[in-house]
Amino acid sequence: MHSATRAYNLPVTSSPYFVNIATIVGKPGTMRELELDFDAPERIGEGLGYIEKGTPVELDVRLEVLHDGILATVGLESRMAGECSRCLTPLDEPLRVDFAELFAYARDEALEYEVHDDIVDLEPPVRDAVVLALPFQPVCRPDCLGLDPETGEKLVEPLEEQAPAVDPRWAALAGFGASTEAPEEPATGSEEAAGPRETESPEDARNHDYKGEPGQY
Ligand SMILES: [Zn+2]
Repeated sequence: MHSATRAYNLPVTSSPYFVNIATIVGKPGTMRELELDFDAPERIGEGLGYIEKGTPVELDVRLEVLHDGILATVGLESRMAGECSRCLTPLDEPLRVDFAELFAYARDEALEYEVHDDIVDLEPPVRDAVVLALPFQPVCRPDCLGLDPETGEKLVEPLEEQAPAVDPRWAALAGFGASTEAPEEPATGSEEAAGPRETESPEDARNHDYKGEPGQY
């Protein structure tokens, strides 16, 4: 009931991403530095890697007052959760994201963010920057080998290049095919065949050498 009452009576007046700039607004050349520390109120990122809700977030913020707005330069430090896109191992890695955004005093089609009621809301640009920085396919380590397709276990060494088992009958055919299909074969083959051809007719030689390969003709 408490939250419902608050929502009914008031707009959102507080967020850990809010920075009140009342003391510096309209004073070009002024600069203010501050640090915001909080636990992420909501998860950031919808992919395999993300900042989980409740994860500590640290924002180092520098605000520079310009004539037409406030330039916010932000360094974010937090942790990326998620899972390896290859082996599904849970991830928990440090995450550092830096960005700068201009918050305009007045609506400006060219600028995405505005100052409202002397407040700079860093949440939208933080979300945008974090989502851009998060890896699309995070891995537990760069050389992660993924899972064994047969056992489902995480691979600790590469799968051996598995040559398909060769049926001896096919092996014999493979040798035959190589000797008849190799481009150089006709030249040397004809020299070797020269001897037999003296005692065999060409027809006999063909029938002997190319038996079972009518496609050759
Ligand atoms: Zn992995």
